[in-house]
Amino acid sequence: MWKNIRVAILLAILLVVAINAYRDQNQDWNRPVHILLHPINADGRASTQQYIQQLQQDDFAEVKHYLEKNSQQYRGQSSYFIIQIGRELQQTPPKMAEQPSILNNIVWSLKFRFYAWQQHQSKDGSPSLTLYLNYYDPKQRRELKHSTALERGRIGSVNLFASPKQAAQNNVVLVHELLHGFGATDKYNLSNGEPIFPAGYAQADRQPLYPQIQAEIMGGRIPLSAVQSKMPNDLNETMIGVLTATEVGWVK
Ligand SMILES: [Zn+2]
Repeated sequence: MWKNIRVAILLAILLVVAINAYRDQNQDWNRPVHILLHPINADGRASTQQYIQQLQQDDFAEVKHYLEKNSQQYRGQSSYFIIQIGRELQQTPPKMAEQPSILNNIVWSLKFRFYAWQQHQSKDGSPSLTLYLNYYDPKQRRELKHSTALERGRIGSVNLFASPKQAAQNNVVLVHELLHGFGATDKYNLSNGEPIFPAGYAQADRQPLYPQIQAEIMGGRIPLSAVQSKMPNDLNETMIGVLTATEVGWVK
């Protein structure tokens, strides 16, 4: 009997995972796309708290405009994005293991899904995508760990600087993770961070090829030479390439 119960439980878990995976896959771009942002004071500093408190919808207006402009370009009609600043949360999402491996990735993604389930309240509604924004005071920390989102998982953990000067660059990181959440893949070399040619380049047919003037959003950086690149300052220095647009379902 115990064996049957064990099998039944296992089948139930697999069913839930399968249903979630199916649900994760298809975003209907004809319907309003609701993005919920939860700010988090990740370093516990008063300066970070102050920054979080003055955040406004308008700080993310460029993100909305960028996504609507690009969806219009690829789909022939614009999707409608609603970007909402939700409740501030007290707990940061689980961090990815230092040593990447398939097992570590699976464990992290389960922990992250559990965290999202725990933090969710019915008043948050049912957003298309939820991003947890971990803010850090740039005076305390010059560099941030890589942000992570579940590919097609509709949740992402985004590390940002709590500073008005960094707000435009924060939006670049935010859109990169947001697109992961809808199925876009990285287009840079994981070992050295350099964009992959041609998919990770904004203008792959440019003559001469270098320096590029924009970054492909999932390539992440602007290639200056085959071995050198720089971080875009704002969304104007980025574009969404055709492969990324295909992955999120804007190109059929
Ligand atoms: Zn990425």
